[in-house]
Amino acid sequence: MRFLRRLPLLLALLALVGLAFLAIAPEIGWARAGGGGSYGGGGGGSGGGGGGGDGDLFFFLIWLCFKYPFIGIPLLIGFVALSVFGGKSAREGHVSRTIRRGAALQKVNVQQKSLNSLRSRDPDFDEEQFLSRAGAAFVKIQDAWSNQDLSPARPFISDGIQQRFALQIDMQQAEGYRNLMEEVRVHDSEIVAIYSDDHFDTIHVRIPASAVDYNVDAKTGRRVSGSKTAESFTEYWSFHRRHGAKTVARPGGIEGNCPSCAAPLKMADNTKCENCGSTVNSGEHDWVLAEITQAQEWRLPDSDRRVPGLANLKKTDPAFSVQHVEDRTSVMFYRLKAASFFNSTDYVTPILAETAGGIPGLERVPADEYWKDPAIGKVEVLDVEQGKPGERDRVRVMVRWSGTRVSGKPGKRSSVVRRQAIYTHVYVLAREHGVKSLASETFASSSCGGCGAPIAVSKEKACGFCGTSLVDGQHDWVLDDISPFTHDMAFRPQQSQQPPADRALQSAAAGNGDAFDAPFISGDAELSLAVLSRIVWADGEAHKKERKALSRLGKRWGLTQQQMQEAFESARDGNVELPIPDTREESNVYMKQLIHVSLADGRLSSEEQRLLYDYGQRMDYTKSEVRHAIAREKRELYQEARALQRSRRKNGRGTSA
Ligand SMILES: [Zn+2]
Ligand SMILES: [Zn+2]
Repeated sequence: MRFLRRLPLLLALLALVGLAFLAIAPEIGWARAGGGGSYGGGGGGSGGGGGGGDGDLFFFLIWLCFKYPFIGIPLLIGFVALSVFGGKSAREGHVSRTIRRGAALQKVNVQQKSLNSLRSRDPDFDEEQFLSRAGAAFVKIQDAWSNQDLSPARPFISDGIQQRFALQIDMQQAEGYRNLMEEVRVHDSEIVAIYSDDHFDTIHVRIPASAVDYNVDAKTGRRVSGSKTAESFTEYWSFHRRHGAKTVARPGGIEGNCPSCAAPLKMADNTKCENCGSTVNSGEHDWVLAEITQAQEWRLPDSDRRVPGLANLKKTDPAFSVQHVEDRTSVMFYRLKAASFFNSTDYVTPILAETAGGIPGLERVPADEYWKDPAIGKVEVLDVEQGKPGERDRVRVMVRWSGTRVSGKPGKRSSVVRRQAIYTHVYVLAREHGVKSLASETFASSSCGGCGAPIAVSKEKACGFCGTSLVDGQHDWVLDDISPFTHDMAFRPQQSQQPPADRALQSAAAGNGDAFDAPFISGDAELSLAVLSRIVWADGEAHKKERKALSRLGKRWGLTQQQMQEAFESARDGNVELPIPDTREESNVYMKQLIHVSLADGRLSSEEQRLLYDYGQRMDYTKSEVRHAIAREKRELYQEARALQRSRRKNGRGTSA
């Protein structure tokens, strides 16, 4: 038979195809060794039982082709087909895993670098000791909160945190109740990230805790609501300290002593030590708590935030710090919300620029309405604009927040005007050009720039102690305006100019000062979901199916029910400004961001893919354009991860010890 005569040639061809396939796909073998691969065992049957490897199975099949061609040939064809077909998904799996590992490696690298950098400046820094102090601070704050007296916590919290707690306590008192946290226990806290910039070291601590959390009537002390048994919760606390500060054996701010001269502190609202006069929560000597984030809102902060204009401003104002502006902005936020709650502009008069002409439009509410349960999700400096002499410097700060708009009076009958939703506003802060920041006042964000006394709630625009004007921008930043978060801000491409693989390599290379080069942008999941929902639902009612798909997507992105609800409310509510891409460039940036958020775990579910197509269709992309965009992003992430792995192997694995 002709067929049989040609058999050796056919076999040789098949063998060649098979070998070529094995040769061009070394990754598959690697992926399987990693433990994930499953296709090898199913197709070959008993063949691979002895030796294990694919190579062995392949040569066994060739041998079978010669010995028993009628069994061997179909098996070999089947094997090759399966390899080609199955190889695709195995390769996909490999890419996903590599991206995931790369992301993990990235975190370890940045953290290790920062820990080394911190230790080089402060050799006595001890993680265990730090965590135990953070735990003590945690318990102290819960007690201060329950007692509605913040003074024991005052030496180690920023003014932003102080205002946030003080306002919430004031609101509780106005509504006639007190929130109690009892049986507070801190479980195994851990340091989740350490960052350094040119002024500060920042440590983010994950604190799992439990407490009995309930409300009592302020007058009678009777329990009105809440739990009777201890419940668990997790918070992320962020501590800052200036370079130059060192771990010392004596007690500091958390223990109730002046971190500068160690004298025991009697704190009220003032943060100046009576003994030595230094600002105790400056971060110059000891750690200061400047942010508290609930577990569901926690994201590892972007470590490569490059703020446009920042480097330029620092040339003339070296002590300028992003931390101060963000802390000051949160003071402004809580004061604005207090103004609406108590229907009194006294809260904001001392922080508003003279030129602002009262409360900025976006924050004005009718006299019979107010915000209930206002909460900040994220405060982030967007850009810095240096004025010329005689003009003013400006900073734009994004504030992501949520709240419920209510009509009525606090403590009396009230009704919901607008359900809880997320809002993104841009605070425009201004000051006179040429003003120099004071390093010691970084977290004194609600203190007089002249004498350090706390800024009062008052009709006065000058400090009651020293008479310095608070609103002329001669000492510190004042609120000039609030504007919507617009396209140009939301869809501004990343600042980094280098190709991703280079960035990854650079950040992996040890010890290049304190510049951050983390290559992984963390997309903003909550905003992304809101914008995507708005786009997908643009033609009116949301389809049940689409809504479900969006919910599942939000869940995969790690959002809580509440956050998703807020995102959907924001998408539906025409009054809430959402940055919807306008131009092709903006759509491109947003598409990239969406894909990036979706690929955070290295893979794309079919649901995510469908939603991306859906988005693409509404933005006039063809399916293949979307496919290409996905492939491109995946390739970039994969290359970054590979570059990191390679450089880590080259530098040895010992660095994580
Ligand atoms: Zn002192
Ligand atoms: Zn003063």
